[in-house]
Amino acid sequence: MTKFIFVTGGVVSSLGKGIAAASLGALLQARGYSVRLRKLDPYLNVDPGTMSPFQHGEVYVTEDGTETDLDLGHYERFTGVSARASDSTTTGKIYSAVLAKERRGDYLGATVQVVPHIIDEIKAFITADLTDEDFIICEIGGTVGDIEGLPFLEAIRQLSNDLGRENTLFIHLTLLPYIATAGELKTKPTQHSVRDLLSFGIQPDILLCRSDRPIPEDAKHKLGLFCNVRPERVIEAKDIDTIYQVPMSYHQEGLDWQVCRYFGLKANNDLDLSKWHTIVNRIHHPDGQVNIAIVGKYISLLDAYKSLSEALIHGGIANNIRVKLHWVDSDNPQNLQDELIGMQGVLVPGGFGERGIEGKLKAIQIAREKKIPYLGICFGMQLAVIETARNLLGLKEASSTEFGPTPDPVIGLMTEWMDGKNLQQRSQEGDLGGTMRLGSYRCKLQEGSLAHKIYGSSSIYERHRHRYEVNATYHDQLKNVGLHFTGLSPDGQLPEIIEHQNHPWFVGVQFHPELKSRPFDPHPLFVSFIEAAIHQERLV
Ligand code: GLN
Repeated sequence: MTKFIFVTGGVVSSLGKGIAAASLGALLQARGYSVRLRKLDPYLNVDPGTMSPFQHGEVYVTEDGTETDLDLGHYERFTGVSARASDSTTTGKIYSAVLAKERRGDYLGATVQVVPHIIDEIKAFITADLTDEDFIICEIGGTVGDIEGLPFLEAIRQLSNDLGRENTLFIHLTLLPYIATAGELKTKPTQHSVRDLLSFGIQPDILLCRSDRPIPEDAKHKLGLFCNVRPERVIEAKDIDTIYQVPMSYHQEGLDWQVCRYFGLKANNDLDLSKWHTIVNRIHHPDGQVNIAIVGKYISLLDAYKSLSEALIHGGIANNIRVKLHWVDSDNPQNLQDELIGMQGVLVPGGFGERGIEGKLKAIQIAREKKIPYLGICFGMQLAVIETARNLLGLKEASSTEFGPTPDPVIGLMTEWMDGKNLQQRSQEGDLGGTMRLGSYRCKLQEGSLAHKIYGSSSIYERHRHRYEVNATYHDQLKNVGLHFTGLSPDGQLPEIIEHQNHPWFVGVQFHPELKSRPFDPHPLFVSFIEAAIHQERLV
């Protein structure tokens, strides 16, 4: 029978529950078990698609086109298992489903309430769409004690009764702060947080304790005693310099062994973590460094580009090089030229809205003219087309209709497209939430193009998240100045990849390749981009 592991967090937020859950998933996989990871977010948005990346970090998109929390990206990168729509929910989604049922009359006259209806909907989410996995690891967003998190805690408490304590395990991730004047790691905040959990009827089985230094045995005993947890199940989660070391570090502390023992499962001790050793070793001992500029407007919150920075690190691992990321603020176009000095590659990532585009266009122009490797992702591809139209075709007002009316809409609203066999339609006035071109689409690559060489295939699938498209009617004009569309949708209508012919490495992609890059399976575009940058002289 499938075992359910619930991961909650206490004391403070940002302790890395996502990485903790993903690392445990990776360790159980290494022990030969199948895993699936799920995230329950207590906010009222139906999905994070309409939230600013400044607030909530990047929006991660699944193969099947759901906009989800960035932790789903960690799950995929650590376990290689592609997430599905059924792996992510929010309070907003749960309430929407319950309210839709109420309107349909499904509750047959009942008074619709948080208990039982909302709780039942959460329980149904956790146990739905399973394919005989050995483990389902569910991460509960937020921190224990938050008002909005209560229904989720109640749901997992009930589930542990429904499914049996022998099939459910509670892991609580907390912080042990070090107080310098006392020279001690403090256990009190964890004791309080566990007391909170107990007040909701949940006794944690394992405590995962973040700390900036080793946890002394007596502190573990104290925690065990006061929190009613065996001392060997108080697991140290010490700060480390790369997230890819976390699975090995948890393994050393016995996390996966304790989980297996709890469930009475065989736990052979010779599990193979060599692939983790290899990547951590490469991260720690690179052959040199390459300097990449990322020109964007959300650089004050690096979580806004989480998958992107990971994908660049993966490209570095593949090339045995350290990728030094330089975050360049596109809101300051005046300093841009100076900020690009020393760079060997320029990347403009996905983005929305007009603010900051002048800086991005300037960076693209510099990369094109100075022949620095350029990778444009989604918005970064659209802006590359605008830059070429303005500066090489002389269409000075060429723009995207995203920024208002323009005489030369080289980028325009996508009003109709085929999603498999279904026709999708959109208008400028439509809802913003969940209405972009989302998820995996096929793309055909032109034989002999750089993209074709990089992918080694003429047909690829990549994940999308955008509303606007390159206007294919400008293709002939753009081609005349060297900008070719080398990747197209299967019907030939939608440009998916652009390349500048008079440039050693200038590629724009309408999709988000970073979402599919994994440390053990780096995305070919990032591998090739980093390789090109390594051979590039630093910009002067
Ligand atoms: N704003 C652009 C669009 O909606 C690009 C989106 C993106 O970069 N993800 O088409």
